[in-house]
Amino acid sequence: MVILDTFAMVDAAPHTDLPDLLLATHHHVSLHFDQAQRLLTPASGHDVGVLLHQLIPEFNALQVIVAALQRDELQTYTQEPIMRTSAAGVARIYRVRLQLTRPGAQVESAFTLEVEEITEVYALRAQVQQLQEQVQQYRAMVDMIAHDLNTPLTTLQGYLELTSVEMQDVGNESFFEHLQIMQGCVERIMFTVGEMYDVVAMDAGQLRLHSRTVAPLSLLRRAIQETGVIVERRQQTLRLEAPDDLPALRCDDLRVLQILQNLISNASKYSPHHTPITVRAALEPDRSHVCITVIDRGRGIEAAQLPFVFERAFRVHETEHQIKGAGLGLYLARLLVEMHGGRIWCESEVGQGSSFHFTLPVADRLRDY
Ligand code: ADP
Repeated sequence: MVILDTFAMVDAAPHTDLPDLLLATHHHVSLHFDQAQRLLTPASGHDVGVLLHQLIPEFNALQVIVAALQRDELQTYTQEPIMRTSAAGVARIYRVRLQLTRPGAQVESAFTLEVEEITEVYALRAQVQQLQEQVQQYRAMVDMIAHDLNTPLTTLQGYLELTSVEMQDVGNESFFEHLQIMQGCVERIMFTVGEMYDVVAMDAGQLRLHSRTVAPLSLLRRAIQETGVIVERRQQTLRLEAPDDLPALRCDDLRVLQILQNLISNASKYSPHHTPITVRAALEPDRSHVCITVIDRGRGIEAAQLPFVFERAFRVHETEHQIKGAGLGLYLARLLVEMHGGRIWCESEVGQGSSFHFTLPVADRLRDY
């Protein structure tokens, strides 16, 4: 910081190229006034006014000082950032702040004029703004792509279903099998498109939950039924373990189905053929939440990677495995669980399998019925 002694500057260097004085990184000019509001300096108020005006004409410092004294307002006045170009043609941005304080008994009021160079901060702010605009454009693009892909994919899915029913009737086994593989691929693309769509909506704060009172067992059974095809393709078994007397949940059932679909399809994807997958549900000890767990006996996740699996676009050993995915599923699952007021976590051992747990709030009997 450079402290400019106003008087020395006025007296000793009256003809200095004043705009260039601002090119120091930080200037500090202190003006002291007595109780009669006279400037306690050898320089006249006029000299100081001229000096400040030449330095920063946009900020009519003396007028601001006089007005502040008259109103007796102890505060900081900040000017919009100003730009100065040095003799060498270098443009710099400054923030000008004028602060009124009461430092002591002898000196009634003190004004500190602070000129701080903020060229870099200003440039960074402009970059951040530019990046925010770019992110906005990418979001709009992803939104559009997801929307445009959805319609033809739904049609394709419909025709594939129809054709596979016809082929089954005709008895063309190998063609039927090929159609089923194609159907699986279309489902996968639609799932990823849906995830992209949701992540964009979530980031933009546009994803809303439609929570209601939901019976947990029928929700879990539905999730198991809907993911049955995925599991059967790998000849795995899917089992539900839950007591009959679980209390009702307060949740958006379609979103919970989405979370379960993601966890079950991961359990299937990252486990060998012929292994069991278990969905377990139990009331938490404090009875405020139900904990749902999806357990597999698959490859597991290394302890060092565990803290990151719920991050956006995280994939363990991306290049090592050929299993397809965008790495959005668990990120989305975490955001959805948190929106419900629950939490999600994972326990895993490499080569032994993984357990993904998440909690959902129990419906409030008095409020939700
Ligand atoms: P992806 O689309 O890659 O499956 P997810 O967000 O669902 O994305 O999962 C992130 C990463 O976590 C996966 O790439 C995988 O490495 C790891 N993972 C998720 N579930 C399991 C699981 N049940 N067993 C082993 N690894 C898993």
